[in-house]
Amino acid sequence: MVLSLDRLNKIRSIDTVANTMVAEAGCILGNLRRAAEEKHRLLPLSLAAEDSCQIGGNLATNAGGVNVVRYGMARELVLGIEAVLPNGEIYHGLRTLRKDNTGYDLKQLFIGSEGTLGVITAAALRLYARNDARCVVLAAVEDPASALKLFEFLFGVCGGRLQAFEYFTGACVDLVLEQVDGVQDPFPQRYPGYVLVELADTVDIEALNSQVEVAIGGSLEQGLCVDAVVSTSLAQLQSLWRLREEISEAQRADGPHLKHDVSIPIERIPDFMLAMETKLHKMEAGVRPYIFGHFGDGNLHYNVSRPVGADKSWSTTAGKALTTEVLNEVLRFGGSISAEHGIGQLKREDFLETKDPLELRLMLEIKKVFDPASIMNPGKLL
Ligand SMILES: Cc1cc2nc3c(=O)[nH]c(=O)nc-3n(C[C@H](O)[C@H](O)[C@H](O)COP(=O)(O)OP(=O)(O)OC[C@H]3O[C@@H](n4cnc5c(N)ncnc54)[C@H](O)[C@@H]3O)c2cc1C
Repeated sequence: MVLSLDRLNKIRSIDTVANTMVAEAGCILGNLRRAAEEKHRLLPLSLAAEDSCQIGGNLATNAGGVNVVRYGMARELVLGIEAVLPNGEIYHGLRTLRKDNTGYDLKQLFIGSEGTLGVITAAALRLYARNDARCVVLAAVEDPASALKLFEFLFGVCGGRLQAFEYFTGACVDLVLEQVDGVQDPFPQRYPGYVLVELADTVDIEALNSQVEVAIGGSLEQGLCVDAVVSTSLAQLQSLWRLREEISEAQRADGPHLKHDVSIPIERIPDFMLAMETKLHKMEAGVRPYIFGHFGDGNLHYNVSRPVGADKSWSTTAGKALTTEVLNEVLRFGGSISAEHGIGQLKREDFLETKDPLELRLMLEIKKVFDPASIMNPGKLL
């Protein structure tokens, strides 16, 4: 049986005193964000798929996106859940309380469960103040170690205003300019790495801009970045974001490739990238890594494209060994083999092989309690 939740699409309430929104699972994420904006509030979950994905899917996959560095992943935005269990019982956990220390937090089990425990039908979400002042900085950096220092410095200076801290390599910029029309590079030359920072606040834009000016001036002075462009209009802000957001599309247009959505303890990212670079060169000449991601929360999309001229089947044949190398290195550095894209069917084997046996056993036992006949999303995750 296949379920579509398209028609479960009502916003049941928006409360600007409690700062909560109760929405049905089939609501499109972008519609929820716009509904919050109309009430001068912010639903911070934001990702490229927001105008097609549903909030039920976002919660079932514990989606991340670009604002995790400030607001956390989907799970941190949820106050309550309503769900239908496999036996037809309804879990009435749609509470909007901030504080509820009455035993196990059952709603959290549904978040990131990939539909294996029950069907989420509605959620109570946490809202924040709407940030009308937004500013984007694109900074050129020499290497990931500088990006890390820049993150530490900007976090210290701008604190809670730091809303996104994205990293991508010069190779990603080349690929975007080659494969996607209408994207502009604001710099006259190519740099080894780029950091895209978004700062946002409820204050007026002048106040935000002057803080950004001081912060970027300090970064350049200390050599944390070598060049920087600051957005001066919404159009420029969106144009700078396109350089980052079109990377996936550019890689798709370039052909089949290996995708690795991994996370590393942030302070170890530069060493991880160095170690991987050495490994890649030893393994196979000519592979093309395109590394980008939500650096500020330790999440890298460590994608690798086939060598120029290699057959399109490369990613499912010769390339497979490379995935094993990447994931082993991620684990060696204390990271996770799936940062925000979940397990599904594709990463099931890697997940079962690498997850701690005790954690895996507890997960299987939880699954049995909720779904003893194993009818929910069979073959996914566990
Ligand atoms: C262009 C693009 C960009 C993306 N960018 C990001 C990103 O930056 N960060 C990120 O984390 N993710 C990203 N994603 C992945 C994204 O998290 C998921 O696509 C999205 O959150 C899932 O929502 P959906 O409605 O598409 O769910 P679906 O794909 O329909 O479902 C996903 C899983 O959840 C289950 N499920 C769906 N609804 C429910 C429900 N109501 N109850 C129980 N189980 C349910 C399904 O059975 C399935 O296993 C991106 C995806 C795309 C296509």
